[in-house]
Amino acid sequence: MERTLNDAMDYARTFLHTGKVATYIPELAKGDSEQLGACLITTDGEVYRSGDWQQEFTIQSISKTITLIMALQVAGYEKVFSKVGVEPTGDAFNSLVRLETKTAHPLNPMINAGAIATASCCMDVKDPFGEFLELTRRLCRRDTIHLNEAVFQSEKKAGMRNRSMAYLMEDDNILEYDAEDVVDLYFRMCSLSVNAEDLANYALVLAHNGVDPRSGEHLLDDWIVRIVKTLMVTCGMYDASGEFAMKVGIPAKSGVGGGIMGTVERKMGLAVFNPALDPKGNSVGAYRVMEYLSHYLGLHYFSGSNSMI
Ligand code: GLU
Repeated sequence: MERTLNDAMDYARTFLHTGKVATYIPELAKGDSEQLGACLITTDGEVYRSGDWQQEFTIQSISKTITLIMALQVAGYEKVFSKVGVEPTGDAFNSLVRLETKTAHPLNPMINAGAIATASCCMDVKDPFGEFLELTRRLCRRDTIHLNEAVFQSEKKAGMRNRSMAYLMEDDNILEYDAEDVVDLYFRMCSLSVNAEDLANYALVLAHNGVDPRSGEHLLDDWIVRIVKTLMVTCGMYDASGEFAMKVGIPAKSGVGGGIMGTVERKMGLAVFNPALDPKGNSVGAYRVMEYLSHYLGLHYFSGSNSMI
């Protein structure tokens, strides 16, 4: 396993020059596109780490899976899915076109508009960000996970598109709270600082249907885990979700900070980090590591058909 992971990293390194770090959030432009780190944890508790696995980066859109979990816990199934759909868009993650042309409701919780709607469903508690942070720490098994203040401020300053979506949704009565307060929470959720091992721990809990296989601790209800993993398959990789499903076949969620978190049913949680992004916003290095591992370890959910396309 160790060798396969290192081979996957070597394979991925040959593609890094094709990607670019995100610049629309100025603070993310400081990322180093050569950094590559990975962590893989099997359900029997073996941990494999490689490269810059300790490097911290902001969770960005991977937080959308945790926001959805919290929204379902706080507001329940009926309310959450009265505000957001479950269909892939085929549009960019930050597109707002469908809010006007299709239905007022965002199409799914994995795009920005949808995550802003689910963030608003988290606001019925006294300290929404505090509870979100606690949940993230529990799922990632690290109680020192914290907010990257510089990225948060940078997002807040540059977040005009997200603000526009929030105002449109406030106007359509999808948000039950003030648009500014909801985007503030959304930006904070995206700005948590994590490393590959944190996200691999979380992915392992998803792979094991809500129970940490090492401690036996029941962290999430299985109906919630099922919803999250389904949306990771259909919408987790932006408008490349179909291609990733076909080529890699691992339920995954990507973020513009360079992380991709993937969960292999009953087998493992894995997370890879590399800030060089392809034009759709997916990390070039992380995508390639997952592609390689899926092929050589037969991880595609329809495995047997594990040839590299
Ligand atoms: N905070 C980012 C934004 O709202 C998240 C984007 C992403 O990772 O896809 O633009």
